[in-house]
Amino acid sequence: MVVVVGAGFAGVEAAWALASRGVPVRLFEMRPNVPTPAHTTDYFAELVCSNSLKSNADTSPAGQLKNEMRALGSVVLDIAAQHRVPGGEALCVDREAFGQAITHALSSHPLITIERAEFTPDACTAFLNSGQKVILATGPLTSPDLAAWLAQITGRANLYFYDAVSPTVDAASLNRDVVFAQSRYDKGEGDDYLNCPFDKEEYFAFVEALVSAERVPIRAFEAGGKRDATQDELEGPFLEKIKYFSGCTPIEAIAEKGPRSLAFGNFKPMGLTDPRSGRRPYAALQLRPENKEKTLYSLVACQNRLKWGEQKRVFQMVPGMEKAEFVRYGVIHRNTYVEAPKVLDPILQMTDVPNLFITGQLTGVEGYVESAAMGILTGLHVARLLNGQSIEQPPRSTAYGSLMAHLADDTPREFAPMNINWGLFPEIELKDKSLRREQKLHAAKAGLQDWLERLGS
Ligand SMILES: Cc1cc2nc3c(=O)[nH]c(=O)nc-3n(C[C@H](O)[C@H](O)[C@H](O)COP(=O)(O)OP(=O)(O)OC[C@H]3O[C@@H](n4cnc5c(N)ncnc54)[C@H](O)[C@@H]3O)c2cc1C
Repeated sequence: MVVVVGAGFAGVEAAWALASRGVPVRLFEMRPNVPTPAHTTDYFAELVCSNSLKSNADTSPAGQLKNEMRALGSVVLDIAAQHRVPGGEALCVDREAFGQAITHALSSHPLITIERAEFTPDACTAFLNSGQKVILATGPLTSPDLAAWLAQITGRANLYFYDAVSPTVDAASLNRDVVFAQSRYDKGEGDDYLNCPFDKEEYFAFVEALVSAERVPIRAFEAGGKRDATQDELEGPFLEKIKYFSGCTPIEAIAEKGPRSLAFGNFKPMGLTDPRSGRRPYAALQLRPENKEKTLYSLVACQNRLKWGEQKRVFQMVPGMEKAEFVRYGVIHRNTYVEAPKVLDPILQMTDVPNLFITGQLTGVEGYVESAAMGILTGLHVARLLNGQSIEQPPRSTAYGSLMAHLADDTPREFAPMNINWGLFPEIELKDKSLRREQKLHAAKAGLQDWLERLGS
């Protein structure tokens, strides 16, 4: 028997993957007895916000990930297909019918026992001490006691309570005629950082656009305030919490302090020389590699809570980023996740706590689909361990291999949750963007075939 905790996207998939392979499961879900600040029903795999499971198109990263999930027997995608509503290329579902059907499917599986109760650290310790395997799939809103325990066993620095991440761009979309590689004062690895140099006029135009851009409203639970509090009332406590948990202030709040504050802070140009002019720029936005392959770069110190369309508009005003493709936008919100490269092994087991597995968004992926995908993978690995079969890792070329590469990449960086995107797939040296993507998909499909053969499915 395996204990799965949390019947969200990852938990239902992990439980289903185990039960489909003959392993009995005890699935704990605390709702409706104990609520989370965002869920409103007692359904499993509740869609807390949008009803979209992203693109279904075969030619997109999310579509490829879905193909791989279907090949492994995804219950979420199976039920989503039965309750699909029009949404263009996106797989959108009737949330009520989807929630009911998935809850029914799990509850009626003969090998799955449902326990509607909050899973506590004591319960976890007891199961582990008795030699059981436990899979934690408690998601971004993990209950406070369990989160505090996780912080304790991972070391406080390796558990996040808030996401405060800067946008990330695809390296291939940067204008290399403008952007230059140089580490400040030429210290460090030399070309680790890329720099986007502003002249005075460009800088002030950017700041003006930044401070006037539309922001995502703060939710009361994120600031610890009453539900009916106004945005102004929430602002102060929210900024304090962000500063306390993430050590940062959103870039738009810094820019509001004075038009030159970024030029003296986040965008200071000291130690940089623009090779086009041979001089120090007025200000510079730095970009830092997000992965070993340097296919993705994050914007240094650009944590923000602008709406996504606004981020694109404003950050494309940065010299060299006119055509930047954003693979992830900046967000600042409540989110619990571990520093996967430091605390998880290649099968998502905690390196220091044998038999304790972490899956779903808690690992550092983001989104309904990515979390569900991780749940299937963990269920598959654990089932194979218990059934005496070999562990077969997804090839690097697959969408699964790409997500796993993100979770294992120990490049010094701000580890932050990631959606599946083109930049995570292994680089293909081709100038033409559509050819490059075609080749990436081709490699992913070949990798999937190879993986399925090794799995014997
Ligand atoms: C406000 C908000 C809006 C979002 N909007 C979107 C969106 O539009 N699109 C998108 O793709 N993603 C969105 N996300 C992210 C998405 O919700 C997650 O990626 C996904 O749900 C994560 O799946 P999971 O299984 O890891 O966690 P969840 O789906 O959150 O499931 C975790 C489950 O664990 C349960 N649980 C927690 N602690 C305990 C405990 N101690 N004992 C027992 N049960 C417990 C919870 O009740 C929950 O059911 C949003 C997240 C939030 C918070």
